[in-house]
Amino acid sequence: MIEITAEIRAIIDKAAAGVELAEDEYIDPTDGLIHCKKCKGQRQTIVPRFGKPGYFMPRCICQCQREAEEQRKAAEERQRRMERIKRRKSQGLQDRYLYDYTFANDNGQNPLMDKARAYVENWKEAYKNNTGLLLFGDVGTGKSFFAGCIANALLDRDVPVLMTTSSCVVCGLSFRISTTSPSTPISGILPTQMTRTLLTLKHFCPQG
Ligand SMILES: [Zn+2]
Repeated sequence: MIEITAEIRAIIDKAAAGVELAEDEYIDPTDGLIHCKKCKGQRQTIVPRFGKPGYFMPRCICQCQREAEEQRKAAEERQRRMERIKRRKSQGLQDRYLYDYTFANDNGQNPLMDKARAYVENWKEAYKNNTGLLLFGDVGTGKSFFAGCIANALLDRDVPVLMTTSSCVVCGLSFRISTTSPSTPISGILPTQMTRTLLTLKHFCPQG
């Protein structure tokens, strides 16, 4: 903003004579420029023409217009985030029942669920260090639920996840399990640099 001399003020006043104002605008007598009725901020400024004599008076946005724009962008981003999470859930959770594997649906019977929560809480660290989880246990001990809770919680935090029962997926990775009896059902959770950030698997192929 330049200093408004008498000469500049005369130019401003001349331009203001023909200007069309919005309902929430007025010409402020102190500087002759367009202001906002609500926040009193400037909606017009004056700048010298580069390399030429004279000035021009472009519109600018006031504080409340800036805030409204920020809110609009934030609402748009929230909407995009929700749609992205929904899309990732439908792509990443390959069975419908996995949607119900959430911490909210945990009955509190399994003390190890704290580990699942901790994994989610420390996800960034786990991802950075490539720290995965291997879940051992008989059928019906809640490995899938455990993994599903992590998957859903991370998906809700906008982390891409693939949870699959497909054993062939692991064969494409350089991830190996060497000490597992073929008859032991296990689940594994590992961060991956693939398209999806977290991959959860169950029933790895024993040869894997
Ligand atoms: Zn305003």
